[in-house]
Amino acid sequence: MKKVNFYGPAICLTLGLAMLGTSCKHETDAEKYKGEVGLVNFDTTAKPQQDFYQYVNGSWLKNNPIPASEAAWGSFNVLNDSIVARLRKLLETAGANKQAAAGSTEQKVGDLFFCMMDSVDLNKNGITPLNDELGKINAISDNKSLWAEAARLMKIGPDVMFGAGVEQDAKISSKEVFTIGQGGMTLPSKDYYIEDAPMYKMLRGKFLEYATNIFVQMGESADAAAKDAQKVLDIETQMAHSSMSRIEQRDITAQYNKMPMTELAKVTPNIDWATIYDVFGAKSIDTVIVAQPLFMKELSDMTKSVSMDDWKTYMRFHLVSSEASKLSDTLSKISFNFWGKTFQGIKEQQPRWKRSVEGTSRSLGDLLGQLYVAKYFSPEAKAKVNEMVTNVIAAYKQRINQVAWMSPETKKYAIAKLDKITLKLCYPDKWKDFSALEIKRDAWVLNSFRINEFEFNFDMNKLGKPVDRTEWGMSPQTVNAYYNPSMNEIVFPAAIMQPPFFDPNRDDAMNYGGMGAVIGHELTHGFDDEGCQFDAEGNMHKWWTNQDSAQFHNKLQVLIKQFNGYTVDSMNVKGELTIGENTADFGGLTIAYTALQNDLKEHPEGVVDGFTPEQRFFIAWAQAWRENIRPNYQRQLINTNPHSPTIFRANGPLSNMPEFYKAFSVSSNEHNPEVKSFEIKPGDGMYRADSVRASIW
Ligand SMILES: [Zn+2]
Repeated sequence: MKKVNFYGPAICLTLGLAMLGTSCKHETDAEKYKGEVGLVNFDTTAKPQQDFYQYVNGSWLKNNPIPASEAAWGSFNVLNDSIVARLRKLLETAGANKQAAAGSTEQKVGDLFFCMMDSVDLNKNGITPLNDELGKINAISDNKSLWAEAARLMKIGPDVMFGAGVEQDAKISSKEVFTIGQGGMTLPSKDYYIEDAPMYKMLRGKFLEYATNIFVQMGESADAAAKDAQKVLDIETQMAHSSMSRIEQRDITAQYNKMPMTELAKVTPNIDWATIYDVFGAKSIDTVIVAQPLFMKELSDMTKSVSMDDWKTYMRFHLVSSEASKLSDTLSKISFNFWGKTFQGIKEQQPRWKRSVEGTSRSLGDLLGQLYVAKYFSPEAKAKVNEMVTNVIAAYKQRINQVAWMSPETKKYAIAKLDKITLKLCYPDKWKDFSALEIKRDAWVLNSFRINEFEFNFDMNKLGKPVDRTEWGMSPQTVNAYYNPSMNEIVFPAAIMQPPFFDPNRDDAMNYGGMGAVIGHELTHGFDDEGCQFDAEGNMHKWWTNQDSAQFHNKLQVLIKQFNGYTVDSMNVKGELTIGENTADFGGLTIAYTALQNDLKEHPEGVVDGFTPEQRFFIAWAQAWRENIRPNYQRQLINTNPHSPTIFRANGPLSNMPEFYKAFSVSSNEHNPEVKSFEIKPGDGMYRADSVRASIW
């Protein structure tokens, strides 16, 4: 089931690491980062004023090639790898324990991990664990049974037809509401179906090959399989035409279409809502939010124009495609060849143990997280990060008060919104109750169905109840962070509070350039192009004066233009798609820099390895974004990821900051000859003229 989540906690620090990781041993030793600038990782032949990212990371990038089983390799992966190693130990212990009390956390995570590792059984069973579901699809005979089975599939995992789920009402943040939107398409976004450029045509060809392989695995002849693959592509292309692009999906207002259920039923007469809600276990849904009404209307029309047999073909494909990686080596390889090799350029599959560790962590994140924090939680890190958050918020208020473009009344409200932000650190105060979830040593895919159904029911159960503000959207072992505008909250899982982002034993300058900027990044999301539309209580509601709002959007335009100008492999970064994240990076860095300046007044720091505290701040920022990435994967991300390529995340904001120019300038450092300094002048890669330099906070 694909949640609609058009404004939800999707606003995070980076792309999830779900598909990343490695089997190789790289630097995972926290000791290595302590107190040092990491000169060994610099490329001292590179000119910092030309490319600061290369200067700080050049040797690291050269010495850390992407492992064959990875799409990219950078700071996040290195840290994630050390977490995966810890989780592996926990899971191997739990998996080997056949005596764990039934229903206990150990039993659930241990049994799931065991099923994932059991290659003998997985290969022996092949596609057979799906036979029951395939039988149900084959038995579809009319519109009612079509929608009953579609709803059932949505509940247990495969993304068919449309997306649905329970979310906070964007305009009444104390309420949960049933939300519906586009879904049911395999390729990453609309462009992949409709664009004519050679890359898209090639990928559509690869999709047909992939789908053909999936149908052959269901026992079809090559000929029949190829015809069925084409039918699936035709159906999904038709769906894509009436769906929204990723950029259009940044328009939150356009997607807030609240309507009585009767109204939706009127424009979608062929969708059997009564049957769907019956399968969902939803007793009375009288109001819905429809993110993409046009899509739903088209889907209703298609229900009649596409034949029943073709819908069955579409659903069989989605079932097997969605679950292939959880079945035999043959099926898992077919899935990897398409998603891993073709889309991301990865050379080989990750070893089974690693797929199993990360798979368990994704599926039972909160349960495994309980075992993780019991062993690895650092109260010291939590206390220090807590203090940094207070300082960064204070710095943000200071910056807001100083900006000339915002009126006093909007400033006042912005500060009130900052004061109301909820902070969640390390792990939830209250763990989710998983007692209704059964995990058995039968088959990986069957456990996956049960987990998805449990999560689905958990969400459905929220309807009509007050919003639970203690809930978390990320597990504690996730190397990431997020801001959720509907909750007006910032969330930092335990895993991000580690090097290279944070180290309680490291100097403040580096910590503010890493973790401080991460904190600033999440705070700024409350005031980016999407976050600025939500008030202090998390309601979508305009609190800006018209003039301030217009000024703010003009400022965003400068940043959009800047990022539109960056290219990778002759592909332009999409300034509009990445504007929220670029605002957060730029704002976060600016605010964290002010927080560091405040901190240095109380705790002055000296020069380390020839760098002042201000310089080390920018070095830590550039280090956080070091990454080698495969070209195929980079192209996919440019199309779909709201975060810019990491080299531009590192360099882009710096080239806008007078603080950066000053920190390295010869005149600022002339009293201190041991300090490395340089001027950034017109014509240099890092230089932006005043007239095109962005300034927001
Ligand atoms: Zn972000």
